[in-house]
Amino acid sequence: MNYRHHFHAGNFADVVKHVLLLGLLDGLRRKDTPFCYIDTHAGVGVYDLGASAAQRTLEFKSGLGRLKSTTATNPPAWVADYQKAVAALQAERAGFWYPGSPWLALHHLRPQDRAVLMELHPEDAGLLKQYFSRQAQVAVHQRDAYEGLVALVPPKEKRGLVLIDPPYEEERDDYSPVVELLAKAHARWPTGMFALWFPIKDHQVIKRFYRRLRNTGIAKMLTTELCVLPPDNSLGLNGSGLVVVNPPWQFDSRARTTLQWLLPVLSDHPQAEWRVEWLAGEAPAASPASDER
Ligand code: SAM
Repeated sequence: MNYRHHFHAGNFADVVKHVLLLGLLDGLRRKDTPFCYIDTHAGVGVYDLGASAAQRTLEFKSGLGRLKSTTATNPPAWVADYQKAVAALQAERAGFWYPGSPWLALHHLRPQDRAVLMELHPEDAGLLKQYFSRQAQVAVHQRDAYEGLVALVPPKEKRGLVLIDPPYEEERDDYSPVVELLAKAHARWPTGMFALWFPIKDHQVIKRFYRRLRNTGIAKMLTTELCVLPPDNSLGLNGSGLVVVNPPWQFDSRARTTLQWLLPVLSDHPQAEWRVEWLAGEAPAASPASDER
């Protein structure tokens, strides 16, 4: 396990993922009944962008940095919510900190809700415990997500969201392990909401990934993508996406408004692009590009 999120915290992919995460939590908060948030690959929860790891890569400049310095006005609701959350963490810790998915989710839990955070790396799991386990609503497990998620669903609340956000070390060439994990967890909890993050580096890999996802037979599933570079640029991470199973009502149209606003903030490249398309169920996408996938 070489991956450490400290080097990447606050980059463009984190910004998009975390803004959409707040959109999903917003959907769950529309009903008073309790929900459970499960983070399968939680990381550390909060990141010091002034520390050496973040300063070595300066990746946060491509994401949070661009968002902070944008002159674009009227951010969509989820972006405004995210900006407020980042400001709240930075005020709380009096410094240049970045909220990971656990912090953002916990910031949006109500007293009746609950969170389960899984992290395999012993050091990161230790930090997570240190930050969060004093909160009664939160359970932190040092555990392998591939075994832990299947064991933990469905949660007793029967409502909730699972964020699956692996580092794509073992899953790098072929995303099939995460598709299998999603399919197994969904079979145990067909009404759960699942969000699966993925990197976009190679168009052919993404095509195969979508084919595998469709073959699971999951009935209601959409994908969101935002690429800051052309999708086949060989330099590295061109974009990222989030597959959402059982999204909340109107998540698709709100995600479109959100990604359309974020794209020019996060990229100046003429071939940068975003998309939101149903992979299964609801309104199948009509654009010619979507027919290929
Ligand atoms: N979700 C976090 C966020 O948005 O702030 C970032 C998570 S980071 C991309 C992936 C994390 O997964 C790393 O902290 C890594 O140590 C952890 N990890 C890797 N393999 C794992 C496994 N099999 N089970 C649980 N955690 C794992």
